[in-house]
Amino acid sequence: MNRHRITVVLSQAQGKHPGKRALEESIVAALIMEPGLDVSVIPHLYDLGADHTGRLFLGSVRGDMVLLSWLFPRAAFWVMDRDGIKGHWGESQLKSAHADDDDDAAPEPPKGIGSLDVPDRHIYCLDLRDFNQHEPYVNEIRRIAEESRARAEQKQSQRAPALVQLGGLGESAASATGGPLTLTPVAGAFGSPFVNGTPATDAPGSPFAPDQLLQAAGRRWYPVIDYSRCTNCMECIDFCLFGVYGVDGQERILVENQDNCKKGCPACSRVCPEQAIMFPDYKTAAIAGAPVGAIGNLKIDLTKLFGGADKDALSQAVEERDRELVADGRDAVGATVGIPKRQNNATVGPKDDLDNLMDALDAMEI
Ligand code: SF4
Ligand code: SF4
Repeated sequence: MNRHRITVVLSQAQGKHPGKRALEESIVAALIMEPGLDVSVIPHLYDLGADHTGRLFLGSVRGDMVLLSWLFPRAAFWVMDRDGIKGHWGESQLKSAHADDDDDAAPEPPKGIGSLDVPDRHIYCLDLRDFNQHEPYVNEIRRIAEESRARAEQKQSQRAPALVQLGGLGESAASATGGPLTLTPVAGAFGSPFVNGTPATDAPGSPFAPDQLLQAAGRRWYPVIDYSRCTNCMECIDFCLFGVYGVDGQERILVENQDNCKKGCPACSRVCPEQAIMFPDYKTAAIAGAPVGAIGNLKIDLTKLFGGADKDALSQAVEERDRELVADGRDAVGATVGIPKRQNNATVGPKDDLDNLMDALDAMEI
């Protein structure tokens, strides 16, 4: 009997958009009868605070996981990593109907400092904005489950001699499958949005009731670092004057005080030379975590957009920072503080075509 299980978590959209809720419900309804899946629903991932039950639940999951959210996969993956919900990047084969043909190009090799203490499991992030029907997601999750099972079998076969030596007792179901240790949600475990408005009964042995997972989460705003790109240059900590960034015990940059960040301000993302800083809820796809180099059908040099040699991105970041300083009752500092050395010679100038393009994208809320 195939006991391998993977965890599927659907992160709901903010608000109560009926079209989004309908898609969420249809995906959950389709997955609920699939063998080998443990399905749960949480509020918008980015909004979960440290003690939100949804986040505690995510932290309890062992083994491979699929996260469906209304976020770019890169953003969702690194939001979780920051919260200690770590794994290897699971490569989705789901191709958005809006993607370019040449999106199949090999991804850039990672040049960042990477994440630490990554457990031996994979996390797949799927973007709920890619399709408005449940079928592509369900089919991809079936494929991922099969891929996960094959990987587990391979590991099992590599470990088999050791088990024989232990007397052939085998492993527990959870450790043998790499599946979650505690949660086995069942048909009634999907929370009030999916059971006629009535909170469902939680699964036996589950530490979290479905309605606990779905407790309200207020909107939050903070930067998220993509460590596959971050080179630990520290330009962001120099630039931010609000104490958001810090360093850990190994001198690695981190977002230390998330809630110090100024709501709606994405200034430091424009300063980062590696396009490693994301604001997942920002209206411009490039800053919200779109794959670097591609925004829908537009190919854009993000180095120019975010900073690097581009003086206008810096100008915009300086303006945004000054606006927040003044709102805090402090003095504007312009380009006199925390400007990376590579940009010292850059002058603040008028907008060029790229800025105009980004303004247009902003206006379109792509
Ligand atoms: S500016 Fe970017 S690359 Fe440099 S430390 Fe900050 S996030 Fe990392
Ligand atoms: S957006 Fe502004 S306040 Fe927030 S981390 Fe960046 S520089 Fe600091």
